[in-house]
Amino acid sequence: MEQTIKDRLKAVNDRIAAAAQRAGRPHSEITLIAVSKTKSPPLIQEAVDAGVRDLGENRVQEADEKIEKVEGVGVRWHLIGHLQSNKARRAVQLFDVIHSVDSIELAERLDRIASELDRRVKVLVQVKLGDEPSKSGASETEALQVIDALDSASTLQLDGLMGIAPLLDSPEESRPFFRQLKELMEKVNDGRPEDRRLKELSMGMSGDFEIAIEEGATMVRVGTAIFGSRS
Ligand SMILES: *Cc1c(COP(=O)(O)O)cnc(C)c1O
Repeated sequence: MEQTIKDRLKAVNDRIAAAAQRAGRPHSEITLIAVSKTKSPPLIQEAVDAGVRDLGENRVQEADEKIEKVEGVGVRWHLIGHLQSNKARRAVQLFDVIHSVDSIELAERLDRIASELDRRVKVLVQVKLGDEPSKSGASETEALQVIDALDSASTLQLDGLMGIAPLLDSPEESRPFFRQLKELMEKVNDGRPEDRRLKELSMGMSGDFEIAIEEGATMVRVGTAIFGSRS
C-alpha cells in the first residue's frame, strides 16, 4: 500500500527519536523542518495536519505563493536556500528563521529591513562544508566576520550555524563535515557570555539526518523522506 505523508512523518520522527537516544540527547532538543520545496499547498497542509510545525522552503518567490495557502497555528517557515539581496525584504516579511546568511552585506541589509519592519527574525550563518556545490555558504573565516556583523545587529537574532554536507556515497561520510560545523560553533561560543551563545546547528537532510543528530544537530531539514521524491 502507498505510504501517506503521515506514515512517512511518523517513520522520520521514530528515526529521530532513535538517533537522539543513541546520542544520549533528548528528542525535544531536535526540531524537524519538513522541507516542502516544489510541493503543493495541499500536500504541505497534509503534513501540517499530521503534526509538522516547521516548514522549509529554498526560494522566496515560491514560498510567497504558498505560505498564505497553508493554515496552522504556530507554524514557522524557514528559508533554507540562497537569498539574493533583492529578495531580502520579502524574506524578512515571510520567514521566521533565515538559515542562509552568508555575507556581511546580507546580514546588514536584513538587519536594517527587520528593524524598519519591526520583525523579529532569527538567523543562522550558513557555512560551506567541504566543496559542496551550493551557491551559498561562507568560508569559516568569512563566517566569523558575518557573526561579528550580526553581533552588532540591532534587530536580528543570531541563533546558530547551518551547513550542507557535500553529496557523498554514504551517510557516514557526512560525519566529519557535521563535526566540523559543531566544532566551529564551539569555537565561537568559547568565551561568549552565556546568554549570547549560539545554540542551533541546522544540519542533516533525508540521507544523513541521523548522523547529523549523533553529531549535535538541533535542526534537521528533511524533504524527500517526508514528501516523497521531487520530480
Ligand atoms: C532540499 C533541501 C533539503 C532537503 O533535502 P532532502 O534530501 O529532500 O531531505 C535540505 N536542505 C536544503 C538546504 C535543501 O535545499
